[in-house]
Amino acid sequence: MQNIRGIPVSAGVAIGPALVLDVDGIRVPQRRVAPNQVEAEIARLHGALSAAAFEANQIQRDITQKIGAKYGAVFAAHAVLFEDPAFLSELDGLIRMQRFTAEYAVSKAVSEFVKTIESLGETSFLAFRSADFFDIERRILKYLLGDRNEPLKNLREPVIVLARDLTPSETATLDRNNVFGFATEHGGKTSHTAIMANAMEIPAVVGIGPFLSEVSTGETVIVDGSEGILIFDPDEATLAKYRRLRDAAITRSGFWINQRNFPSVTKDGTVIPIMGNIEFPDEATACSARGAEGVGLYRTEFLYVGRNSDPSEEEHFRSYLRVIREMGEGRPVVIRTLDLGADKFVSVHGPKEPEKNPSMGLRSVRLCLRDIPLFRTQLRAILRASAFGDVRIMFPMISTLPELRKCLFLLREVMEDLREEQVKFNPNLPIGTMIEVPSAAVMAEEFAREVDFFSIGTNDLIQYTLAADRTNEHVADLYSPADPAVLRLIKFVIEAANRHGKGVNVCGEMSGDPLFTPLLIGLGLRQFSLAPNNLPAVKAMIRRLDLADAERIAREAMVFESARDVQHYLLRQRLKLDPEAAGGGEE
Ligand code: PEP
Ligand code: MG
Repeated sequence: MQNIRGIPVSAGVAIGPALVLDVDGIRVPQRRVAPNQVEAEIARLHGALSAAAFEANQIQRDITQKIGAKYGAVFAAHAVLFEDPAFLSELDGLIRMQRFTAEYAVSKAVSEFVKTIESLGETSFLAFRSADFFDIERRILKYLLGDRNEPLKNLREPVIVLARDLTPSETATLDRNNVFGFATEHGGKTSHTAIMANAMEIPAVVGIGPFLSEVSTGETVIVDGSEGILIFDPDEATLAKYRRLRDAAITRSGFWINQRNFPSVTKDGTVIPIMGNIEFPDEATACSARGAEGVGLYRTEFLYVGRNSDPSEEEHFRSYLRVIREMGEGRPVVIRTLDLGADKFVSVHGPKEPEKNPSMGLRSVRLCLRDIPLFRTQLRAILRASAFGDVRIMFPMISTLPELRKCLFLLREVMEDLREEQVKFNPNLPIGTMIEVPSAAVMAEEFAREVDFFSIGTNDLIQYTLAADRTNEHVADLYSPADPAVLRLIKFVIEAANRHGKGVNVCGEMSGDPLFTPLLIGLGLRQFSLAPNNLPAVKAMIRRLDLADAERIAREAMVFESARDVQHYLLRQRLKLDPEAAGGGEE
């Protein structure tokens, strides 16, 4: 049994057979086929070899044409090897005599060739040959195993996905019925992959570091998304323990859903509305099911998942309408304009050359302001949707006042167009801005004069304040919502909004962690927006609190000088408020 730690990003326990993606460069597991499948396996191997030979010949022709026959000859040599009778009979023998899978036979044969070559001595000629063999192996495996995501497309039984990394769109398209959990070598706490896992309620651990070579597809693994643990080859006692934890979590989640109608109010009667964060229209149902009082953050860029063309105005409009209808009367829907870029879907509108530092580059509202037709299309759809419910609009990643004013100017222009076309919209729809760049936080006083509400995006605010990439596991220790610098900015923004009588909430992942609920309320926050999955636990914390307690906690927490001290202090306070909480784990 092996037990390794990573970053917990989506609570819950999943137990099941591993599905290892990213086999490129990874040990191919030793597997055998049934005696009656040997001939089919050999046919599969020959198919892959012919496809690889065809590809190598094509590359040879291309390279010869572009840079000369001398370079193309390398690929011609590969093509010859794919059809070399000695190589073929070696592989056939391994499948026929030992019943190995075609993948394993290829890996074994190649590693033996390489061992022989290397034992002859380290000359540059021989080194070139062994690298060549690995390339040949990779090419054949590509045809045997297919595209990296192929195994995810036709899942027929539940699996736990193990990968180097998953993109937000790969995560968004996971089959929820058959992917019980996932674990990745890379990734950070508030990467959009992590956010998607939580939204889809799939237990997940990221940023584990290298582990894929330790595990093979089919082995039983456990993902504990609450504590950030991945376990290979669990013994019976561990399996029994985690089955109990998994079942208890399922029972509890039912219990929380039953509480959806309890009001979100502190013990002394202060009402704290909780709204939901969504990425896709159908998540609005999860908001209703948990008793959210609206949608506080609709991340509309997820309309781009799995497509390489722009959604039309009509597609935008229809998606918004679905959310508005699900939320019904009296529950606001805050539609955030496109936050494309950084780790999210840049394929259509990304810069032509990859950016060196995409989170600081042409992302979000910066990109929209460079592509006015794109921006206008969305603004028209949001305004049209505003005729059908309590729609509010919000701009992401604003860093300066002129940038915000450009957005407001464009919005007014689009309103004018709609008026001329006699299209209905709400001319008084509330307008908000996200505060997720430190410069905007510092200028909160001025920003408050220009908009109706703020939403503090702590996921980005933390990364930009501490210069710690939210998706990078190597700086995960620096990236903390409990950091005193982050807390001071949050306090400053809440106070500026309150002084101006403007609404303010926190919609980053920090908002969904009950550890921070007392502190944020104590700092003056009166509204939260969070992943529906986290709503019950935060509501339960609100219902345990007195305003006076929250204010004392905020006062005391703000004195500490390090994230670690704040975190420890908040954990102690949480245990006092909720003795059953195991210190930041799942509720
Ligand atoms: C944030 O930055 O906190 C936020 C809510 O926006 P996103 O996670 O989509 O960047
Ligand atoms: Mg953000």
